[in-house]
Amino acid sequence: MGIFLKKAGRNDFLILEKAADIGGTWRDNNYPGAACDVPSHMYSFSFEQNPDWSRFYSGQAEILAYMKGCANKYGLLPHFRGNSELLDARWDESEGRWHLATGDGQQYTARIVVSGIGGLSRPALPNVKGLDKFKGALFHSAQWNHDYDLAGKRVAVIGTGASAIQFVPQIAPQVDKLVLFQRTPPWLVPKPDGLINDGVKKLFRFIPASQRLFRASIYWQAEGFALGFVNPKLMVAIEKLARWHLARQVKDPELRAKLTPNYTIGCKRVLFSNNYYPALTRDNVDVIAAGVKEVRANSVVDANGVVHKVDAIICGTGFDVADPLGPLKIRGRDGLEVREKSQGMSAYLGTTLKDLPNLFMLLGPNTALGHNSIIFMIEQQIKYVIACLEEMDRRGAATIEVKPAAQDAYNDRIQAELQKMVWSEGGCKSWYIDENGRNFTIWPGFTWKYWMRMRSPDFRSFNFGKTA
Ligand code: NAP
Repeated sequence: MGIFLKKAGRNDFLILEKAADIGGTWRDNNYPGAACDVPSHMYSFSFEQNPDWSRFYSGQAEILAYMKGCANKYGLLPHFRGNSELLDARWDESEGRWHLATGDGQQYTARIVVSGIGGLSRPALPNVKGLDKFKGALFHSAQWNHDYDLAGKRVAVIGTGASAIQFVPQIAPQVDKLVLFQRTPPWLVPKPDGLINDGVKKLFRFIPASQRLFRASIYWQAEGFALGFVNPKLMVAIEKLARWHLARQVKDPELRAKLTPNYTIGCKRVLFSNNYYPALTRDNVDVIAAGVKEVRANSVVDANGVVHKVDAIICGTGFDVADPLGPLKIRGRDGLEVREKSQGMSAYLGTTLKDLPNLFMLLGPNTALGHNSIIFMIEQQIKYVIACLEEMDRRGAATIEVKPAAQDAYNDRIQAELQKMVWSEGGCKSWYIDENGRNFTIWPGFTWKYWMRMRSPDFRSFNFGKTA
């Protein structure tokens, strides 16, 4: 967002950041083996292609370095305020300004606020009886304790999602014993990863069109995957691949049975890994599919009552997606807090919200993906925000606010579509769906459709307020 503001000649902005440094996901998720399961040439900005990616699926350190490089190159650092967690945002109708208060005691006013807080920034520990009584080391994958030496320890891992399947193969050879608590097995397919040789890097550097072509081929292959989301019957081929992968890597029929999901592939995020299943076949790894009953001072008790003595518990248990705002209070035109008013999360195109003038969101409700690069979605949103700012200038408007009817009609439409898709039909329980069965996270299907919607905003969906 900062880069696009600068490109548009808008330099009067600040970037408030909760942590000391930039990097978000790729700063916090630095657990062993952290990498992106979207190919790097697609998981990068369209306007800042990097011919030097070392592999097809880059690791956390390389992605973080790329992001920091972009922030530096485009001159964002002078706009950056670290250790500035936004705690309160209040719209003042008479002034036509947002009043913002941050955790370090600073106050700001702004005409426009763009939220880039995302939905996966607040680690969630499992709600397990006795977890607070545990005497050993306890940490979450997104808050990895690098000072704790795992060598020779007995370690429990809770969770088998996208994060756990990356760190389990890394720590399994180090520890004395790894007890993996799996609640629901993920569907897993091979990861077509590998180092990129110098010849290819040179080609991408000297003929940038070749890299753009490669990026486009990744994009459209991923879009092909979305066919299965729209029509779950088409997932059969991917399911065959996943079953073949499991059968090839896990010979023990008992372990294989434990690792075989009983829901339609795609209902939860499909995971990519070549080393997860082999790690689980190691002699020092036990997969407990019974679930966690309770945690005691030095052990974890599974649902069958078996006590597993451990020195450490690592939680790969995901994020608090139901309450992404955390301590942040946002109060709009009527002074009421957003959280109190909203019955389930929804927005207009995942970007603007009714009753909240001059506020935009990046990665708001129903913009997450299970099949393609989220950077692509963010870029479409950013261009949309810039187009809205330009339209405000053109009209001489002080405010922009989505019409409630436009937001409601949009949500009714996408919710009707989502009801027929794999996340609702696939027979699983996932964090994509809220307690009322509403999918508040995922964009329904093809990202090119989102792209088309976002290319030119329909300004009839907005109320513009004149300058006072
Ligand atoms: P996640 O996908 O939400 O997985 C959490 C895991 O913890 C699940 O296996 C869940 O089981 C389990 N769990 C949660 N509470 C539990 C409890 N009380 N008892 C037992 N098990 C429990 O979290 P994540 O792996 O951190 O990934 C979060 C998201 O981050 C992903 O969906 C993805 O969007 C993103 N991510 C992306 C990448 C990438 O390469 N692009 C890598 C890592 C993460 P259930 O399945 O039964 O709920």
